[in-house]
Amino acid sequence: MKFDVLTLFPEMFEPLKKSIIGKAEEKELIQIELINIRDFSKNKHKKVDDTPYGGGAGMVMQPDVVYDAYKAIKAQNAKVIYLTPQGKTLNQEKVEKLSKEEHLILLCGHYEGIDQRVIDEIVDEEISIGDYVLTGGEIPAMVLIDSVSRYVEGVLNEESKNEESFSQGLLEYPQYTRPEVFNDKKVPEILLSGHHENINKWRRCEALKNTYLKRPELLKNVELSEQDKKILEKIKKDVKCEEAPLT
Ligand code: SAM
Repeated sequence: MKFDVLTLFPEMFEPLKKSIIGKAEEKELIQIELINIRDFSKNKHKKVDDTPYGGGAGMVMQPDVVYDAYKAIKAQNAKVIYLTPQGKTLNQEKVEKLSKEEHLILLCGHYEGIDQRVIDEIVDEEISIGDYVLTGGEIPAMVLIDSVSRYVEGVLNEESKNEESFSQGLLEYPQYTRPEVFNDKKVPEILLSGHHENINKWRRCEALKNTYLKRPELLKNVELSEQDKKILEKIKKDVKCEEAPLT
């Protein structure tokens, strides 16, 4: 999968060279190309922005410079996404859908944003990473690249994705690793039992409990089995998962 990023600050993308995303790029499972919009300025001072027509605070990125940067990308069927607080909020469903695309062009704004005419001309979709305003689209673009790349085949193992928060509409169960005792707190006994069926039931119960306690609104969109519904009733009565799923 290819990501072309149109940005004024390519150096901000350094963190993507690390860890899982960095390795995915090394293995050529994904390709991240950074295009510096400033390189396309015709101004001798490499200026890319100007004051807004009609007055007001801040500077606006100029349409011709952004357009020339976009035109320099050899794109046939690429989808162009503008990262903006005005877009639809990114969620897991959208992430998985985007991972099926072969080529995404991500447009990062800065300052007061980008002249509307070039947005109208080249952008297919607007995406936000939440209802707050950041100084630029670079962090949102990194959030999108990271979350989408995890769903590109070969980047992660399938099992870890299927059990994760949101993958089945629920938050994930709690995770534990060595040591068995930490600050007098023991790992739940059931995880040491080696009884996989009981462990799975306990994890399902804990996932339901986590979702009920932290994000109850998510439960409205999950298809719950009869067993899940019974477990939820017990959770609401404060029954522990060590007891609830096994009876
Ligand atoms: N004046 C714009 C508005 O009120 O909608 C906000 C501009 S913001 C300061 C500068 C740039 O940061 C935007 O063009 C966009 O690319 C990016 N940005 C800021 N917040 C964002 C968010 N929540 N999601 C995605 N991109 C965001």
